[in-house]
Amino acid sequence: MHPYRGAFQRDRDRILHSSAFRRLVYKTQVFINHEGDLYRTRLTHSLEVAQVARTVAAQLGLHETLTEAICLAHDLGHTPFGHSGQDALDRCMKPWGGFEHNLQSLRVVDELEERYADFPGLNLTYETREGILKHCSRRNARALGELGERFLKRRQPGLEAQLANVADEIAWSHHDLDDGLRAGLITLDELVEVGLFKRHHRSLRGRRSPMSRRVLVHATVRAMMDQVITDLIEATRGRLARLRPVSIEAVRAHGRPLVALSPAMVAGHRELKVFLNRHLYRHERVLARNRRAQALLAGLFECYMNDVRAMPREHAERALAWEREQGARGRARAVADYIAGMTDRYAAAAYRRLVDPGLEW
Ligand code: MG
Repeated sequence: MHPYRGAFQRDRDRILHSSAFRRLVYKTQVFINHEGDLYRTRLTHSLEVAQVARTVAAQLGLHETLTEAICLAHDLGHTPFGHSGQDALDRCMKPWGGFEHNLQSLRVVDELEERYADFPGLNLTYETREGILKHCSRRNARALGELGERFLKRRQPGLEAQLANVADEIAWSHHDLDDGLRAGLITLDELVEVGLFKRHHRSLRGRRSPMSRRVLVHATVRAMMDQVITDLIEATRGRLARLRPVSIEAVRAHGRPLVALSPAMVAGHRELKVFLNRHLYRHERVLARNRRAQALLAGLFECYMNDVRAMPREHAERALAWEREQGARGRARAVADYIAGMTDRYAAAAYRRLVDPGLEW
C-alpha cells in the first residue's frame, strides 16, 4: 500500500508516467502531426476523453480516478498513423493471430512497459485493465483468462469502464468534427444533414449579437457536446434508478451497458458518426494519406521480419527469443510490438533509413 495514494490513483499515475503515454503526442488521431499544430493527437484525444468521463463520473457518483485511469490508458496500444496503421499491422499479422489495438493497450500496461523492478508492465488493478480492454475477439478472449471471460459470456464490465467507452465516442465524434471543419475537409453546408449540428448552429446563429465564424463553430460544437453529455447523465441516472443494481455482479450480469445514451440520442449521435465516416474519414485527402501510411508500415514489417537485427538490440533479442519459443509467430509478435510502439515520425524516419530514403512525409 502507498501511504497516501489509493490503488486507482496509483494506476493513473503509473499510466501518466509511462513512456507509451508520452508517445501518444506524436501519434495520429485523424490528422498527422505535421499537417498542423492545432489538430488533435492521440494524447489530446485521451485527455479529452478523460475530461468528458470525469465530468459524468462525478455526476453519477462513480469513481472518478478509476474512470480517469481507464481513459488515459485506453489508446496506449495505438499504432502510428491512426486506424489505417492499425489496419495495416492487422493485415501483416493475419497469419499470426492479427493485431488489435485494444489488446495491444493491455499488452503495453501488462508486459511492454519496463519501469519497475518487481514486476513487468505497470501492475495495474483488475478494474483498470478491464476498462482498457474494450473489445476483444473470442479467440483472444480465450487466451486472457479471467479478463477475457466477459467477452465469452457476454457480460458487462464495471460502470467506470462502460463510461470510458461512451466518453471515447463522444470525445472523438466532436473533436474530429471540429478538426475536420478547421482543415476545410468538411463544410458547414454539408453539416446541415446532421440534426444535432443544425439545431444548435441555427439557434446560435440567430442570436442578437453576431459571432465570428470560428466562435460560432466552437459554440455549436460545445452546445452539441453539452446536450449529448447531459443526455448521458440523465439517461444513465434514470436507468440506475429503475434497475437498482445492488452489486457489481448485477452490473456485470445485466444484458446491456447501464451507462449509455437515451435511444433518441443514440440515433442523433449515430447520425454524426455516419456523417464523419462519409465526409471526413473517407475524404480523398485522408484516404490518400492512409494508403501511404499503410504501405509504409507494411514495408517496415516486411523489412524487420526478414532481418530482426534491423531493429534496436533489445527488440531484436526479444524477437529471437520468442522465435525460439514459438517459431515465426513469436518473431512476428515482437516486430508488431516494436512497430506499434512507434510514433508517426519515428516510423517515417525508420522507413527512410531502411526502405526508401526519398520518402517525403
Ligand atoms: Mg480512443
